[in-house]
Amino acid sequence: MTDDNANPDDRTVAALTDVMTVLDSIAQGADAPDLYLVVSGSGSAYLVDTAEGRCECPDDTHRPVECKHRRRVAFAIGERPILEWVNPAALDDQFGLHVNADRRRAVADGGDVRTPSDESKGTGSASGPLAVEADDDPRTKRAKREDIDVSFLTKPGRYEVYSASGRIYEVDVIEKTCSCPDDAARCKHLRRVEIEIRAGLVPRPDGRLPDA
Ligand SMILES: [Zn+2]
Ligand SMILES: [Zn+2]
Repeated sequence: MTDDNANPDDRTVAALTDVMTVLDSIAQGADAPDLYLVVSGSGSAYLVDTAEGRCECPDDTHRPVECKHRRRVAFAIGERPILEWVNPAALDDQFGLHVNADRRRAVADGGDVRTPSDESKGTGSASGPLAVEADDDPRTKRAKREDIDVSFLTKPGRYEVYSASGRIYEVDVIEKTCSCPDDAARCKHLRRVEIEIRAGLVPRPDGRLPDA
């Protein structure tokens, strides 16, 4: 991608900075290693097939281009090094959070360097917002430990939660409700969303991005 490195086009910039979540372990992507679900900041979700080089969005379907979703997946899974000129602060906060890949950055000699994912953001890391504390109750412990993906919907206060089992629940942090069958006052999904909001891992309920 030498040309792109020197002269990034709008789709590459969008791929790096737009709010998008790349999910590789849920829904149709669950047992297909080449399929990724990309959820945009507007709540649209598109399936990207990296083997076929296709995305189901209108941009990719109707134009002879590589859409921003395919580019984002390539960056997020480390297949394409993140361009040298990119200011890390400009990267979308969701970068690499939900895919099992290390972020890579291009370096001047053309090789690339692996940057360990940000400790505070890694699921199951020993410290950070998802660290299990001794006095957490059992649902909070599960909320922190399980492989749960949270993404922000455009509706105020609504988040979509992808559980480790592949189910999708809708959490409303304003009404304090969740669409899952757990009838406890605050299920693990609601707890997980609240933890991620506090930690700045997902946008706040008003849709504003957390201050980095
Ligand atoms: Zn697309
Ligand atoms: Zn729930």
